[in-house]
Amino acid sequence: MAQIKLQNVEDYYEIGEVLGSGHFGQVRAVLERASKVHWAGKFLKLRRSASSRLGLERKSVEREVEILQSLQHANVMALRDVFESRAEVVLIVELISGGELFDFIAEKESLSEEEAIEFLKQILMGVGFMHTKNIAHFDLKPENIMLADKTMPHPHIKIIDFGLAHCLKQGEEYRSLSGTPQYIAPEVINYEPLSEAADIWSIGVITYILLSGLSPFQGDNDEETLKNIVGMIYEFEENYFTQTSTMAKDFIEKLLVKDPIERMTADECLVHPWIKPLTRKQADNRSRSSINMKSFKKFNAKRKWKRQCESDQEDTETKPASLIRRRLSSSS
Ligand code: ATP
Repeated sequence: MAQIKLQNVEDYYEIGEVLGSGHFGQVRAVLERASKVHWAGKFLKLRRSASSRLGLERKSVEREVEILQSLQHANVMALRDVFESRAEVVLIVELISGGELFDFIAEKESLSEEEAIEFLKQILMGVGFMHTKNIAHFDLKPENIMLADKTMPHPHIKIIDFGLAHCLKQGEEYRSLSGTPQYIAPEVINYEPLSEAADIWSIGVITYILLSGLSPFQGDNDEETLKNIVGMIYEFEENYFTQTSTMAKDFIEKLLVKDPIERMTADECLVHPWIKPLTRKQADNRSRSSINMKSFKKFNAKRKWKRQCESDQEDTETKPASLIRRRLSSSS
């Protein structure tokens, strides 16, 4: 377990602007007083009493800390320090200044599959690394895929938010109903034992959206979305996939597989010919095919708008926003 410091975080770090906020607190820019190095501070509110519905259980924060500590990888947000006071825990983490991958892509005029794959590869490497440590993220979605520095010619992916992540132990079953409807695997909804394969499903959904600007299982409401996922009701709508290669669709089809055992693993994904072409023809196909930028931009604008509405709503509510959205849901 991390050495949690009981001193006041402000003795060591100057607290700056808000960078983002989640269901349990804010992420702010912080400046280390001694070194003058910039970091980010994730301020997590602790639950005051067992009966309270606000804030996080200390156990849950400890789990996030322990997981982050065991994940040192170029594509995973690094943890530097942890502070605890009576009401909150502050995680000092690397500052990720490039914003979300989806926002970066949405600003572009066009993007070939080949270019999109460079990002996807990094996501797969970060996730593959977690999986070698038996850790599953369980909340992979566009909001949790950021860029270290978007001004670099080849921006670096950073996976964030390990609030739902879990270290899976051999011989122990883990079930959880938490996650974000659009991105969760059927076994989550069915409350079945979970494995790392649930992350692979989410990567399948993310890839589908990235290429088409459509969300494969999206219904008119959460209930309908969950029904579509369990019923495997999705298709490659012709109008949206005109610029997509057959290999890309094949890749997605091997991720959006109902039986988690039959899904490709992260390592298998990395050697799928769409990601790692074996022939000249396969490589050419990827550079000729492109993402549906018009539709993608629309999807991204809608996503940002929805998130803004949700956060405005949560500001005025005291209760957790959604049944199957965050780590409040039952887990065992
Ligand atoms: P949620 O409830 O949405 O899961 P959370 O409380 O677990 O959120 P995070 O998702 O970790 O919090 O962070 C919230 C937001 O803060 C992110 O969407 C992102 O915009 C920003 N953020 C998180 N970590 C960093 C970082 N290391 N550097 C810069 N910004 C960050």
